[in-house]
Amino acid sequence: MSRTFQVPLPDEGQAPLAFPARCVGCGAPAQTESTLLINRLAMRGRKQVQVSARYAIPHCARCARSTRVVFLAGLLPFGLGVLLVGGLVFFAAAFGLSALGLDDYGQPNNANSLVAGAAAGLVAGLAGGFLFEVAARVLLLPWLGRALWQAPLLAAQLLNDSDYVAGLTAKPDREARFLQLTFNNAAVADEFAALNRANSGGAQT
Ligand SMILES: [Zn+2]
Repeated sequence: MSRTFQVPLPDEGQAPLAFPARCVGCGAPAQTESTLLINRLAMRGRKQVQVSARYAIPHCARCARSTRVVFLAGLLPFGLGVLLVGGLVFFAAAFGLSALGLDDYGQPNNANSLVAGAAAGLVAGLAGGFLFEVAARVLLLPWLGRALWQAPLLAAQLLNDSDYVAGLTAKPDREARFLQLTFNNAAVADEFAALNRANSGGAQT
């Protein structure tokens, strides 16, 4: 069972969080660390606030490796899909619209076709990235197994605005005042709760 905590994100610096010396993925003794990086430009009222925090998350060697592999297994096909599909649609749309005479409207130097092409390319690129990532995931599943299955898709992380390392998902709220931490491993979550209640009382269920 997974457990979720909400911790406050201060305006400056980062919330002091203590993690138990156990892998957040599988609960084995911690051997190394993976970095959970939170970087957001959030609107608080009318003010734009840059919120960043970096946490060293304890992992066993296996979960740390799977975090990196899963990240690459998502990022590489996603990037390839964005470049290929987005690029093709950009050129097709820009040339097509230009040939259709879109650039004959407005100011002579307006590159209407380029703007429209870029917009179409961006939308198509995201869709392409998503499709490539899904396809890669299906292909890689026999090798990467459960670790890959549990990780959210990059496209979903972009839409959902969350960050993931094996066993732990972090998601700031819209104004980035709070960080929602979801532990997949309930036993590690309980130790995290006990540690941080003792330290600062910052974490709450
Ligand atoms: Zn582990």
